[in-house]
Amino acid sequence: MIPLHDSTLYHGLFRWHADMDGRPRLSRHEAGPEIIPCPTTGRPLRIATIEANTAAICPACANHGQGGFVSFEGDLRMAYACPQCRELVWLAGA
Ligand SMILES: [Zn+2]
Repeated sequence: MIPLHDSTLYHGLFRWHADMDGRPRLSRHEAGPEIIPCPTTGRPLRIATIEANTAAICPACANHGQGGFVSFEGDLRMAYACPQCRELVWLAGA
């Protein structure tokens, strides 16, 4: 059985849910952190915006999902929280 509320997922930025029909989705964690570490340097990155329930295709597992996007202050990268593979996938800045 998969725990439905694992606060360590996505650095605690999102909660993971399963809909009645079993489809995974995310919601913003109301007590999530304001800063998460850069995956390459460990440098703290301050979060600018968080959007949940955004339809997207995961760059890591290629599944369609209702995931979440995170943007950061002073950093062009974004992170995609995938409800399918449950990874926080970093995206190169535009
Ligand atoms: Zn994925």
